[in-house]
Amino acid sequence: MEAIYEPQTLQEAILYFSNPENCLKYLVLRRTEWKNGVICPVCGSDKVGFLKNQLRWQCSNRHAKRQFSVKVGTIFEESPIGLDKWLAAMWMIFNCKNGISSCEIHRALGVTQKTAWFMLHRIRLAQQGKQGGKLGGNGGVEIDETFIGGKARNMHKAKRERVITGTGGKDKTIVMGMLERGGNVRAMVVENRGKRELQSQVREHVEAGAAIFTDELLSYDGLSEDYKHAVINHAVEYANENTHTNGMENFWSLVKRQLHGTYISVEPFHLFRYIDEQVFRFNNRKMTDAERFDIGVREIVGKRLTYAELTGKVGETETIN
Ligand SMILES: [Zn+2]
Repeated sequence: MEAIYEPQTLQEAILYFSNPENCLKYLVLRRTEWKNGVICPVCGSDKVGFLKNQLRWQCSNRHAKRQFSVKVGTIFEESPIGLDKWLAAMWMIFNCKNGISSCEIHRALGVTQKTAWFMLHRIRLAQQGKQGGKLGGNGGVEIDETFIGGKARNMHKAKRERVITGTGGKDKTIVMGMLERGGNVRAMVVENRGKRELQSQVREHVEAGAAIFTDELLSYDGLSEDYKHAVINHAVEYANENTHTNGMENFWSLVKRQLHGTYISVEPFHLFRYIDEQVFRFNNRKMTDAERFDIGVREIVGKRLTYAELTGKVGETETIN
C-alpha cells in the first residue's frame, strides 16, 4: 500500500491543511461511520456522488439537504470558517501544554476573537472524550480536590462587588480529580466536598477493591469498606513512601497554570470545558503531536454546540443523529 503523507508538526499542518482537498482526505479517513464509503447523513444511502468542484457530496435519493460537506454532523457543522483554520486551531489547542487563548487564535488565524472563542469551545467539546471503564491498576488511584476561581483582582469592579460577599471562597468552584498512577486522570466539577458527593464520584469512577490514596478529609471516611484506603496527613508529612497524592497535585498545577496563565479569567459556568481540555492533553501525554491530533480529530463527529447553548440560553445537546 502506498504510504499516506500526514503532517507531523504545526508548520507542516498549516501547509498541508491550506489545501481543502487535504482537509477532506484527512477527515474522511477519520469518520468511522464512513469507513466503507461516504453515506448520506439524511437517509443513510451509500449512493452518493462526489461534486469535485464544490468538494461536496450529493445523495441520489430525492429529499431535502441532498448535498452535504465533510463538516456535516460534526462540531464544524454550519460554521462558515474554513477547515484550514479549524484544523490549525485544533492542532494548537491539542498540542500546547498550557492551552491557547482566543486572543492568540484571533491573531494567528485572522478570525475575530469572538469567533475564536466559539471555535475553541467547540474544540473542547470534541476533547470531552469517552471515559471508558473504571480506574484501578496496580499502582492505585490518587484522589484529591481543589478550589478554582475567585481571583477577584481580575474581575471588573462591579462584578467584584457582586461576587465578594464577605464569606470568601464562596465564588470558588470545587474540582475533584482521580488519577490512576501511570495512567489516566479524570476530573469533574462537584457541588460540594461532602461525603455523599465525593464518595459517589469515587464509586462511579474507581474499581472496587483498588488501592486509593486521599488526604485526611473526613468526607473520605468509610471508603475502606470497599477500597484499600491509605490516608496521608498533609499537616504532618507531605509524602509517606507510597502514600501520597503528588500525581494529582501535579495535575492541579497544570490546570492552574493553564487557567491563570493563558486564560486569565474563566466563568465558573465554563470551567468544566477547560478542565476537559487539560484532561485530554494529560491522558494523551505520551503521544506525538500528530498522534494526539489524530485522536482528537476522531472525536468531532456526532457532537454539536451552538452559540446559544454555549452562552447558556438552552441545554446542551451532545449527540446529534
Ligand atoms: Zn440521502
